[in-house]
Amino acid sequence: MKNNIKQFCFPGSAKEAAALMNKLKHKAVVVAGGTRLSRALLPSVETVIDLADLPLKHVKADRKWLRIGALCSIAELEKSPLLAQWAGGVIARAAGQWSNALARSMGTVGGNVSRAHPHNNLPPVFLALDAVVVCSDGRAEKVLPFARILEPAMMRQIGTRYIVVEVCIPAATRTWSAALARLAITKTSWEAYTSCVVAVDRKDGSVRGVRVVVGSVLPRATRMGKAEAVLDGKPCSEASARAAEAALQAELQSLTGGAQAKAYACRVSGVLARRCLMEAFQG
Ligand SMILES: Cc1cc2nc3c(=O)[nH]c(=O)nc-3n(C[C@H](O)[C@H](O)[C@H](O)COP(=O)(O)OP(=O)(O)OC[C@H]3O[C@@H](n4cnc5c(N)ncnc54)[C@H](O)[C@@H]3O)c2cc1C
Repeated sequence: MKNNIKQFCFPGSAKEAAALMNKLKHKAVVVAGGTRLSRALLPSVETVIDLADLPLKHVKADRKWLRIGALCSIAELEKSPLLAQWAGGVIARAAGQWSNALARSMGTVGGNVSRAHPHNNLPPVFLALDAVVVCSDGRAEKVLPFARILEPAMMRQIGTRYIVVEVCIPAATRTWSAALARLAITKTSWEAYTSCVVAVDRKDGSVRGVRVVVGSVLPRATRMGKAEAVLDGKPCSEASARAAEAALQAELQSLTGGAQAKAYACRVSGVLARRCLMEAFQG
């Protein structure tokens, strides 16, 4: 592919990378693992800002947050002992469902959330665990709720105005019980008919808090508020899971405008949600 690249820059901090990106604007492109980028290089781009040297490869926890650096590879998430223990290991398990080993070892967390394709594995999990995203524009850091960066207007600014620094997940979610499931043609398909992540905060056999997220069906990963409302305060039982399944199917059907092409995905999403709930209820 023909390109007009004249220089590669390797900034040493997210602040420096963001400042450079904001200075060069459309003449520069940011690259992390490079798995998505190569297909979309515009002729105006003369500078590649390579994030490879940024010290953002951490997975660590403090009293308030689980912190995942933007430059962490998907393979590192899968192998992390800390993540294996967090919310039923749901982040590590999502990483383990990557379509192929090369994309898993090169792709980064920052790249996955910066261009959040509806089939991407991490956004539904981060949404279900109440994540926030720390971004830098080169002058200051900004903390955004995960749902906010999935909004198209904000997403356009990620990688053009903001550099993703880290994804932070509240420490309280460590003990939540979470599960995930997806339906795709094969296990090695990146694209899925639907994917579902649930995260449950249980107390004395009842639901104290719950997140139910569907990916792949809508243009971006979305929390299913009606299914969550049905579960609130209810016993962790099959009857509750079945009620949530029905609520989710109805909500998703209305969000897809009753489109026939999505009818199957809506039905299956409900089934996956019920199965995930049962798994999460049993811990
Ligand atoms: C063959 C193949 C299979 C794949 N399979 C899967 C799969 O199973 N599941 C899945 O979810 N994804 C999959 N992907 C998509 C992709 O690999 C992942 O989304 C990966 O995490 C992207 O990360 P990256 O570091 O390679 O991003 P890059 O290609 O480096 O960047 C992607 C975009 O994000 C921007 N960007 C990157 N990092 C930052 C940052 N820190 N701050 C701001 N902007 C940034 C870049 O400017 C660019 O526009 C696949 C891709 C390919 C090519």
